[in-house]
Amino acid sequence: MVFLNGEFTPKDQACISVMDRGFLFGDGVYEVIPVYAGKIFRLSDHLVRLQNSLDSIQISNPYTPEKYQNIFDQLLEQSPNSNQAIYLQITRGADTVRKHSFNELTPTVFIELNPLIPKTKTELENGYHAITQPDFRWERCDIKATSLLANIIYSQQAKQSQVEEVILHRDQMMTEGATSNVFTVKGNTLFTHPTGQHILSGITRDLVIESARYCGLIIKEVATKIDDIFSANEVWISSSTREVMPITNVDSKLINNGKIGQHWSQVYDHYQTIKNA
Ligand code: PLP
Repeated sequence: MVFLNGEFTPKDQACISVMDRGFLFGDGVYEVIPVYAGKIFRLSDHLVRLQNSLDSIQISNPYTPEKYQNIFDQLLEQSPNSNQAIYLQITRGADTVRKHSFNELTPTVFIELNPLIPKTKTELENGYHAITQPDFRWERCDIKATSLLANIIYSQQAKQSQVEEVILHRDQMMTEGATSNVFTVKGNTLFTHPTGQHILSGITRDLVIESARYCGLIIKEVATKIDDIFSANEVWISSSTREVMPITNVDSKLINNGKIGQHWSQVYDHYQTIKNA
């Protein structure tokens, strides 16, 4: 079952109008919210980011936090105590004619669950590969928009290059991954791009910073040169579905001789503690 506009419906019977602006323009926003053992993780942070995304594109939030919680609870009843990723999408809704500007419409709300299988520490310890690419996305990467063509192009490049992620740079400065935030460690210092319009402010990014601080790392939220990635001691990516993942090879060059860093291991452990609290 999925949730669509007030109804719980089998997925293959859930329909939207061809005039829905999500379909015509990608005019909508979304969230991906992890659920561990049936417990929704950091829901209020995700709902705050959702509100920011909606405000940025002038869509009125159709539901209260309590209503979202209630819908999620009903969907989660189908698979109690499991790990899931909630996918929540809100589009501006359906108009009568296709035009770029908009009138106030009734938003379309779609929510579904997908199984979430976090990688084990042993799996993560193998390390992952990434490639770098110029960041040709727009200047409002802080909006979690469903119009994701650039990210799709990068993700397909990653797939074809058989790597986990594409790490992006704008004017030679590293921004984030196509579907993640990026961190580098040098000595005892963790570097990551500051929040703002050039990155998505990841909920996991905040947790990684919190964990790193707990583990004694100095945090510097500054943009760093993309070339500096090759001399980093550690490179990590983070997202709600991947948590914090070590990258040991960038553009076919080894990071830290291809070895997993000790800071990643500590931060990973602390992240698990927060998750399971
Ligand atoms: N940056 C981009 C471009 C993303 O698509 C994502 C997640 O999908 C993230 C960062 C990480 O965000 P979060 O940790 O909230 O999942």
